[in-house]
Amino acid sequence: MVKCAVCNAEFENDRKLHAHLKAHKLRMVEYYQKYYPRHDKYDGKIIKFKNKKQYFETEFNSRTNLRMWLKNSPIEEAKQYCKDVLQKRKQEKELTYAPTQVELRTLIFPPIQYYNEIFSDYYALCRELGFKTKHNIPEEIVPDSQWESPEYEVLVDTREQRPLRFKNRNVKIMKLDYGDYAFSSSEASCKAFIERKAVGDFLATISGGYERFQREIERSVDDKANLIVIVEQKLSKILYFNQQRKKNTGGLVYGKVKATPEFIFHRVRSLCQQYPSIQFLFVDGKTESSRVIEKIFTSGCIHKKVDLQLAYDTKKL
Ligand SMILES: [Zn+2]
Repeated sequence: MVKCAVCNAEFENDRKLHAHLKAHKLRMVEYYQKYYPRHDKYDGKIIKFKNKKQYFETEFNSRTNLRMWLKNSPIEEAKQYCKDVLQKRKQEKELTYAPTQVELRTLIFPPIQYYNEIFSDYYALCRELGFKTKHNIPEEIVPDSQWESPEYEVLVDTREQRPLRFKNRNVKIMKLDYGDYAFSSSEASCKAFIERKAVGDFLATISGGYERFQREIERSVDDKANLIVIVEQKLSKILYFNQQRKKNTGGLVYGKVKATPEFIFHRVRSLCQQYPSIQFLFVDGKTESSRVIEKIFTSGCIHKKVDLQLAYDTKKL
């Protein structure tokens, strides 16, 4: 049973209460913000309302406010907060694996490098909280001299329309079972397959093409391959793709994609938890994508041990 905070009438569920709000000429946002005010921990402004669940779970209106609050709080308080949010999320979402950098950065959470700074080892903290960990803190990723030789080629799937070029090696077009790029020695690369996506393609895959994409992932899992999805736009920018579309800036038009960033990244986070062998990596454009692909392929099995987005963000990749 839920009670209307205005007139005390009781309702079976939220949906019925929400319908009743019309009687008070209140929209849902007005009702919650007026009768259950919640404020950003940093600047005290009212929490923006998207839906009830989000409203009651949100402590900060932006990542900037979270960052500023952490910066201005005593270290012990900051540590407690950072630990609590992880623990809470683990319980609520029944998470198995320590959240990856992409998972944290697509939520209003501190990034892994901040956890490393205040706890010295994010993964040790996660294990303490009962998570399984897939990765270690990345050292500088260095190509292995054994695999750097140009005799090793990059295999490109026949469906790849305009294949990337690589600085130090040739490409060979052939049919791949999944992904767009692979290394000619699958032993050297620990069966790394790279799916490269421009922004529009990524958004379409995660929305309308989702089921097909899941089947592709399943095939890679059956073969014990590691699928790395490289998206050619910075995470800080793609998080706001719908706003860019509205303003129509930078020539970014995403066709028929009606999905919101919340929807897209919710799915991305679920995939990260569901399939430990998949990683998402957002890089700054096509040239970066070519550089990073070659580096991943020639650096042995390092992609299995590190969070590639964290390595990229901290300039280790
Ligand atoms: Zn009422």
